Amino acid sequence: PPQQSHGRQHGSLRDQDRIFQNAYMRHDHLLKGAMARGDWHRTKEIILKGHDWIISQMKASGMRGRGGAGFPSGLKWSFMLKPGWEKDPRPRYLVVNADEGEPGTCKDREIMRGDPHKLIEGCLVAGRAMGANAAYIYVRGEFYTEAAHLQEAIHEAYKHGLIGKNACGSGYDFDVYVHKGAGAYICGEETALIESLEGKQGKPRLKPPFPADVGVFGCPTTVANVETVAAAPTIMRRGPEWFAGFGRDKNQGTKLFAISGHVNNPCVVEEEMSIPLRELIERHCGGVRGGWDNLLGIVPGGSSVPILPANKCGDVLMDFDSLKDAQSSLGTGAVIVMDKSTDIVNAISRFAKFYKHESCGQCTPCREGTTWVANMMERFTMGRGDERELDMMWELTKQMEGHTICALADAAAWPVQGALRHFRPEFEERIQQYRSINGPVLYGGKL
Ligand code: NAD
Ligand code: SF4
Repeated sequence: PPQQSHGRQHGSLRDQDRIFQNAYMRHDHLLKGAMARGDWHRTKEIILKGHDWIISQMKASGMRGRGGAGFPSGLKWSFMLKPGWEKDPRPRYLVVNADEGEPGTCKDREIMRGDPHKLIEGCLVAGRAMGANAAYIYVRGEFYTEAAHLQEAIHEAYKHGLIGKNACGSGYDFDVYVHKGAGAYICGEETALIESLEGKQGKPRLKPPFPADVGVFGCPTTVANVETVAAAPTIMRRGPEWFAGFGRDKNQGTKLFAISGHVNNPCVVEEEMSIPLRELIERHCGGVRGGWDNLLGIVPGGSSVPILPANKCGDVLMDFDSLKDAQSSLGTGAVIVMDKSTDIVNAISRFAKFYKHESCGQCTPCREGTTWVANMMERFTMGRGDERELDMMWELTKQMEGHTICALADAAAWPVQGALRHFRPEFEERIQQYRSINGPVLYGGKL
């Protein structure tokens, strides 16, 4: 069961415990407002404590990357400091992944709009931890306001000596650049992002080598999510034990959740990790439209994770381990709620179409698999198909999973697997209905 921490009821994060205080731009997003919220407070001291100290604090905080994969952040940052790194003449880079494109996910957008200084200060702190003197923030092409607010904040930070030469008076030089993407989902994959940053087509690279060994321009690089980087200065100031006091073992800290779909008040909210899913929705979204009994299912972590049927949504905790046990994933923390009015076959078909469109086409299981899955799902939406094809589609998704350069093929496979696992009767019913009106459909017949 979730522990009680900081003397509070679990899941009732107090306003003062929120790292991101300016969601929805309720207050000033520029330097004056940011400083009033505590940003840039004693940053020099943090920088002077050095890379080992910053990394040890990140490790102790239990922070796991907020971009979706949940890799331990302190450990990842430490890969930049392999023995002998100080003799390596190559420059080192921090790259912030702000190409937030996973359907349902809109949390980093709030940080860039309302708290851009938190991210810039985070770049300085994370960059110092890695021995980097520059950060590139790769912003999704569609994020116009977000890029503009970041750029405005970067100008202010330079003007006040917070970044640039002798950043914050620490003796450390640090530059921050905004780079805008051009609207391809795959450029959110870290190695595709690196290729794109270098001016090439955004096509993922094989890993290893991981970016810490060979990253942007062939130099040691760490690609990290906006939320992870922006949270770092607050973790340094308040202490890792403060952050680790939220949530439960291996699932610590606070987290931004983006809740959309059939709830009364969709929103982005920072809550304690491990908050029960139902409580998250009841507390912050005014509940499911038509009441909890009207719930069909929830996608708890963005479109690439398997859906949970209503009967599994009640007790599950919003964290990496609980959702894994429930055969889904926390992903980006994007919660997509579907009530009983949802055509679930059509909804998953729409996801499949998205992944087919966004596949970069390098790997056969992904290029061909996403096309097959999308075409089959489109037919199933109308009931054109044969029950045996449901097994074929399951098998097909299993062949896509884990057999490609990047995780896009997995992302395309998992929602379909979730739908087949929990909603197979809906597929079968539709096939039978179509057959009863139109007669038998050829096995493997085309649309
Ligand atoms: P991953 O597990 O391959 O890697 C996670 C991070 O850890 C990477 O930075 C990687 O370089 C690092 N890493 C992992 N193993 C390592 C090792 N042995 N040595 C050094 N570094 C190592 O996952 P991924 O492909 O980066 O991300 C997949 C996730 O992205 C999915 O879970 C999905 O939820 C999420 N996603 C997010 C968005 C978004 O908009 N935020 C969009 C699409 C997908
Ligand atoms: Fe491209 Fe898909 Fe292969 Fe990823 S899995 S590299 S998107 S073809």
